[in-house]
Amino acid sequence: MAAAKVGRERINFVPRRGWIALAELPNLRRDTAKTLSASEMAKASIAAPTDRTSEEFLKSSVFDELGMQRDPNNLYLQVIDSVLQAAEHLEIPHHLQLILAQPKNEIMVHFPVRMNDGEYRLFKGYRVQHNNILGPYKGGIRFHADVHLDDVKALAALMTMKCSLVRVPYGGAKGGCKVDPRAVDRDELMRVSRRFIAAISNVIGPDVDIPAPDVGTNAQTMAWFADTYMNISGSVSRQDAMRVVTGKPLEMGGSLGREKATGQGVVDVLVELLPDMGIPIEGAKISLLGYGNVGSWTGRLIAEKGATVVAVMDHTGAIRNDEGIDPVRLAEHVAETGGVAGFGSEHGSTRTGRHTQAGAEAISEEEFYRTPVDVFIPAALEQMINEEKAGWLECRVVAEAANAPTTPMGDRLLTKRGIEVLPAILCNSGGVTVSYFEWVQNKQSIQWDIERVDSSLNKHMVLAARRTQLAQHRFDCDMRTAAYIAALDQIAKVYALRGIFP
Ligand code: NAD
Repeated sequence: MAAAKVGRERINFVPRRGWIALAELPNLRRDTAKTLSASEMAKASIAAPTDRTSEEFLKSSVFDELGMQRDPNNLYLQVIDSVLQAAEHLEIPHHLQLILAQPKNEIMVHFPVRMNDGEYRLFKGYRVQHNNILGPYKGGIRFHADVHLDDVKALAALMTMKCSLVRVPYGGAKGGCKVDPRAVDRDELMRVSRRFIAAISNVIGPDVDIPAPDVGTNAQTMAWFADTYMNISGSVSRQDAMRVVTGKPLEMGGSLGREKATGQGVVDVLVELLPDMGIPIEGAKISLLGYGNVGSWTGRLIAEKGATVVAVMDHTGAIRNDEGIDPVRLAEHVAETGGVAGFGSEHGSTRTGRHTQAGAEAISEEEFYRTPVDVFIPAALEQMINEEKAGWLECRVVAEAANAPTTPMGDRLLTKRGIEVLPAILCNSGGVTVSYFEWVQNKQSIQWDIERVDSSLNKHMVLAARRTQLAQHRFDCDMRTAAYIAALDQIAKVYALRGIFP
């Protein structure tokens, strides 16, 4: 087994088919920077086995063995297809491919809630537990009118891969409730949150399955979840029961830095990888699709590194200013009005004083995608970058801050056009990493200071980025496949060590 030391951390790789050791990375990175310009890197990616037509997706025999219908538009199948392709590269045993192609548990619940008008409404919720070989199930809960079982399954599988890639001791899960949080009032939302967590309380737990925020949920939702669980679970002490969710408010066991963690992780990855692609972060032009938790924190933190946010789009509209949009003032505007639309009449300068912010003009969706930038960051919902949008993009790098924002056909076109795609399981793993820090702090009844959270997060993100780079180099593949390979390598090793019960 090859061993390598990075800082004080020791990492072992099974030298499978000449897998290179992490210690070789400094040389690799120097070589890469020297020999591969951005376009050459793009060409290197084109050589990867992603040049396929839609019929060439979903080829694995695993789909037949499990009786899965081959629907190329199904998000779950798209995710599992990518996982299985990486598994083939890594020559992972077939029985592990079968195991990973289906979640361990799919829980569906229906529960009534009394609304403010006195009427009862029946809500539907899901909790999907994909895999727990590396530790307790972990994954966010989404509140959205359009939540479907297969989407939750896809997000749960991504969590398994994400936790493994970033090396936090968790498995993968995801939850969802069919409710539009903007269409109900605060009391109604609280009752929905409490009833939902009560409905799944027998399958979650602080050492079993640990939910967190996702689209449509936040620290307040986590406070309601935790309080409900603490009141109804008899098996653990009330204090320990609080660990059942992460992303809690600071006042009740949350971690410093959790709210910004996903955006911080995106920025940490870009700071690490952009120079190797010939793009200095200082002065890089950025556009953001989505300006909620992830998008707005990414915008604010990347501006602090000297990048310029030139275009933003959310569900209310799109705006552009080539001189730079002030990300802090935009976040304030979104908090006040609910979206980016209408941001344009204000004038001022950014917190760093780096750019002059002279408002922004409203633009169309197509103009937003066509805005020339160095890095395009999708931070909204799944499957938004389809083939058409991939054809519109004028960027060098797509950094997937959202989960699964790129369809396979969109991905294929981006690769063909020489646009590097940094995959979601790498870019947005900062959220679950700081969730893990929160869980550890709760276990020990201590609170880390923000410097410790930020530096520990940075270490996890940098190592995850390097693992992905190494896998790309070794297997001559695109970054998405490389990230899955680096994640699967760990999972396969643990399965080999533990075996399959009985
Ligand atoms: P959020 O609800 O805070 O923000 C979602 C954003 O998407 C909003 O700006 C919304 O306007 C925008 N949006 C929704 N529909 C849109 C449309 N049709 N067109 C354009 N914009 C649209 O959610 P979030 O927590 O920021 O999550 C965003 C993504 O990041 C999701 O894919 C989520 O799964 C992923 N993610 C979130 C976290 C986290 O810690 N919050 C962690 C990992 C991954």
